Order: sequence, then C-alpha cells, then structure tokens
Amino acid sequence: MSDLHPSREIVVVGAGPAGLQAALAAHDAGARVTLVDASPEAGGQIWRGGHPPSRIAARLLGRLRDSPVQFLRGCTIVDAPKPGQLLAMHDGNPLWLSYHRLVLATGARERFLPFPGWTLPNVLGVGGIQALAKGGLDLAGKRVVVAGSGPLLLSVAASLPLYGAQVPVIAEQASLSHLVRFALGLRYLPGKIPEALQLAWRLQPLRFQAATYPVRAHGDMRLTAVTLRSADREWTVDCDYLACAFGFVPNLELAELLGCTVREGFVVVDNWQQTTAPDVYCAGEPTGIGGAEKAMAEGAVAGLAAALLPEDANSPVSRNLHSQAAPHLARRARCHHFAQVLERSFPLRPELRDLPLPETTVCRCEDVPLIHLEGCSSWRDAKLQRRLGMGHCQGRVCGAATEFLLGWPMQSVRPPLSPVPVRLLAAAALAKADDSNPHPQTRPGQ
Ligand SMILES: Cc1cc2nc3c(=O)[nH]c(=O)nc-3n(C[C@H](O)[C@H](O)[C@H](O)COP(=O)(O)OP(=O)(O)OC[C@H]3O[C@@H](n4cnc5c(N)ncnc54)[C@H](O)[C@@H]3O)c2cc1C
Repeated sequence: MSDLHPSREIVVVGAGPAGLQAALAAHDAGARVTLVDASPEAGGQIWRGGHPPSRIAARLLGRLRDSPVQFLRGCTIVDAPKPGQLLAMHDGNPLWLSYHRLVLATGARERFLPFPGWTLPNVLGVGGIQALAKGGLDLAGKRVVVAGSGPLLLSVAASLPLYGAQVPVIAEQASLSHLVRFALGLRYLPGKIPEALQLAWRLQPLRFQAATYPVRAHGDMRLTAVTLRSADREWTVDCDYLACAFGFVPNLELAELLGCTVREGFVVVDNWQQTTAPDVYCAGEPTGIGGAEKAMAEGAVAGLAAALLPEDANSPVSRNLHSQAAPHLARRARCHHFAQVLERSFPLRPELRDLPLPETTVCRCEDVPLIHLEGCSSWRDAKLQRRLGMGHCQGRVCGAATEFLLGWPMQSVRPPLSPVPVRLLAAAALAKADDSNPHPQTRPGQ
C-alpha cells in the first residue's frame, strides 16, 4: 500500500533552514505545501540578504523557486483560532490558512540584557548589525565593539572588517575554559572544523577577551564609548557602535498558542518532531538552539513525517518513511550532541544580573525601569501593574530579560501574536463565534 497522501495539506511556518527543508521534504513526499514567512524573503535569520548566498542556501532557495510549494512572503501568523486553521496577516489583510498538518519552524531571536545605556542609539544586536550591514549600513571607518555571548559574536566580528569597520575588541562573557569545551565539541560536526579554522584565521588580527562583558554604554544622543569589565579590571573603549547580544531565545509564541508542551524553554517533540499538540510538528531553534545544520536535519524529518506518518498513531510507520528519514535522523543525532555542547559552553554568568541600576530601562516599548518592578511578584503581575511587556514587541525583548534577572517565566501567550489592524481582530472574532462559517479564503488564489 502506498503511503503517499497527495491530498494532505501542510502549512510550514518559517522559511529559515528548518522551514525550507521541511517544506521541500514534505513536497517531495507528495504533500501540498504552503510555506509562510513574516519576512519579505526566504532564508531565515542566517541566509536572508546574503549576497552571494552560501552554496547550501542557493540550492534550497533555488529548489523552492522551482517547486510548486506555495511561498507566502510577508505573511505573519497571528492566531490559531481552531484546530487545523491559522489566521495570518498578509500584506495587511486577513488570510485564513487550513492545514491537515502544521510544521512550526519559527526560529529564534537574540537575547538582550539590560545594562546602563543599552537603549542608546547605535547599541544594536549582534545579528542586528550584521543584517543592517548586509542591507547597506555604511560601516566604513566605524569602530564596532562586539560583546555578549555565543558563537555568533565571532562570525559577525570576522565579517565586520569586510564592510570597512574596525573591531577594537570582542568581549565574550563565557570563561576561557568554557570556550575550550565548545571548541572540543566541534568533533560532533567535523564538517564545521575547516569553517572554524578559517574563522579563527580571520579573527587573528582582532582582540578577543573571554570572561568580559559590557557594564555601561556611554553617550548622550548616541553611543560614544562602552565600559567593559573582566575579573580584575574595568576599562572604557571609544566606539561608534556596540553590537551586543547574549545568545538566542526561541520563538515559542505560536507553539504555546497551539498548546504544545514547552519544557525548560523549548518545545517538546518526539522522534518524528511531533509536538504534543495533534498534527503539529516543530523543527529548528524552538526545539533547542543548535544552528542551521540541526535546523535543516530536524526540518527534513518534520516535513517527511508530516507528509507520511499515518493518521492513526497505532498504524505502523512505513518503511518508505524510515528509509527516507534515516540520513536526516543520523545527522540530527550528531547535531543534538553539538547543541548540548553549545548550551553548556555559554552559561550566562550571574554577575550579569547585577548590571541594571534601579533607573535602567527594562521594557523599552513601555519605558519601564527596573525600580518600577519592585513589589511585583511575577511577569503577569508586572504586566498588569506596570505595563511590562505590553508594548509593540509584546515582551519579546523584556520577557527573556526579566526571566533571567528576576526568574519570572513569561505567561499567557494570547492572540494576536503581533500587532494587527482592527479588521483582522474582527475577522478572528467572527470566525470563533461561528463554527460553521466557511472561511473567507484558505490558500490565496483558490
Ligand atoms: C538575528 C540573528 C542573526 C543570525 N545570524 C546568524 C549567522 O550569521 N550565522 C549563523 O550561523 N547563525 C546565525 N543565526 C542563528 C541561525 O538563525 C540559526 O542557527 C538557524 O539558522 C535557525 O534556523 P531556523 O530555521 O530554526 O530559524 P530562522 O532562520 O530564525 O527562521 C525562522 C523564520 O520564521 C519566521 N517566523 C517566525 N514566526 C513567524 C510567524 N508567526 N509567522 C510567519 N513567520 C514567522 C521568521 O521570520 C524567520 O524567517 C542568527 C540568528 C539570529 C536571531
């Protein structure tokens, strides 16, 4: 008996490495696939705007272009009002998407931690400055201090001189012994070793300080200098930009809205990347921070499983699925070892909790300083009483910060997941009120 399900409709949310692989694998396995991404381009955080694109990015993006997979760019999923249905904002208009199976590949964002001056103009994320440089920000002759934590610091610092920038120092908060552990972890992904050696060569002329972190950004209308601290000293470096982030935070909002179980900050999945919510799969950074290779391996497994796993959980899994998934499962296992090393290599040092002063802004959408959180007992309490996380980003920045600073997990994800026009809310309310109401539109053009 064939295990192809040609009529199975699969929606993949996120067109980064995980989502691209999931969409293409599901299509190859016979499903009808719609891939959506909030951004105007496919490629996710790592490949978007890369000119020229890397070989693997060029291959996947080319396959997407040549395939019948429907790609909806600029399409943000904002609600999941009923099982099998999503509400999106597409070019400012409501759009309903129906699915038999859904793959979440929503990626991660950078983690920002507050310290005095972190909201000054020209203090940016590490990935943020890279994206701006790719987009044409003129960095010629500019001094960029790169600080925070994680391997992204190194790859971005190495790329900045290509745009004409100077990098006076790279300040990594993790200790040298942790960094050695990270380097040894590369044995799990031997393909990365030549890349790492090349990176080390490019970083050679730059000054790297382990166990060092920013304590204050100086400036009036914009950044002029940053003070760094290591175990035995503090010093100030003049600069035009500070690129600063402390690792990544997974984008869990949609998974939580759909009722997927989240444990220790990540979506729980089984061997086939199935979440605990029926017909919902998840791949990439939301299941654990591990880089593009892990995202692609998980994406391929999720796409194949979404297309080929039988509806009845008790039915045997076909040999076809096993054989197609086998290389991806093996690659995924290696990537998971590497992800564990990554997690253990960049623990945030407790001293970072002492950086914000009482007057330091914690929620920059709603201008909430740390002192205003005194007396609040939880994220929810601070939201209700102090408007923490009530602004445009809906806690995407301050949520991770207060979790680290105050131990408050973010609670109660609610639709819409992003700010939307009122007509979109009205459409969602109408659909919820009338279960029998056929949706105004499913896939566009149908
Ligand atoms: C700012 C930034 C820069 C980075 N730069 C690099 C780098 O230079 N090199 C490197 O090795 N790694 C980089 N990374 C890490 C890299 O993103 C991951 O290692 C890996 O590529 C993750 O792949 P992914 O498919 O899981 O997620 P992503 O590549 O993050 O893709 C997720 C996609 O989902 C979309 N999305 C999320 N929510 C919704 C929604 N509700 N509706 C519609 N679309 C949605 C997003 O727009 C995004 O395109 C960066 C990460 C960030 C956050």
